[in-house]
Amino acid sequence: MIPADVLARFEETTGFMPTEEGEALHAVARGARAGTWLEIGTYCGKSTVLLADAARQVGARLVTVDHHHGSEENQPGWEWHDESLVDADSGRLDTLPHFRRVLDENADVLSAIVADTRLVATWWTTPLELLFLDGNHTEETAQQDYTQFARHLVPEGLLLVHDVFPDPADGGQAPWNVVRRAVAEGFEQIAVHGSLRVLRRS
Ligand code: SAH
Ligand code: MG
Repeated sequence: MIPADVLARFEETTGFMPTEEGEALHAVARGARAGTWLEIGTYCGKSTVLLADAARQVGARLVTVDHHHGSEENQPGWEWHDESLVDADSGRLDTLPHFRRVLDENADVLSAIVADTRLVATWWTTPLELLFLDGNHTEETAQQDYTQFARHLVPEGLLLVHDVFPDPADGGQAPWNVVRRAVAEGFEQIAVHGSLRVLRRS
């Protein structure tokens, strides 16, 4: 169960996660082992709220990565653009100020990296018990994030992938292609909750 105050914060945080998928994310994470968990794609911290609470319950620590300037589909003129997240001075989409409250409220378990995942991948070495891929949805970057970070999952570590749509009519194919590749590389799919896939490393 998600504590009422955590659920309330999740619901009032801007982002891209339906409540049912959030509940599934929280439940799955609570079943993960302590250690280091990594989220790719923070945005304003909506999914982060749930992962941080689960991490606290399990005794894990959570790291979340985002450059905070949004994905292609968040830019002006695209389907998922939110005008209210544009910084008045820079004129750029900037989710970092909107994430600050979630960061402060979870400072006991949460570290935020404000950087491009391609840079983080060049120095990341920590073994992972849980990896949540919810970042860039272009084929190239989604594949690259999987390549660079899934290799740090320990045996039986959990790989969660968001926005998985096997039917192109429902959404972009990059996360689905990541799931197919993970299965081909030996990950076992253990659950499907809407567009959220849960896999376990063998
Ligand atoms: N997990 C969030 C949604 C994340 S949206 C929620 O629950 O609402 C995807 C995020 O990936 C965006 O915030 C975007 O800035 C980030 N992103 C896209 N490409 C990136 C890259 N190359 N490096 C770091 N972050 C990236
Ligand atoms: Mg998503």
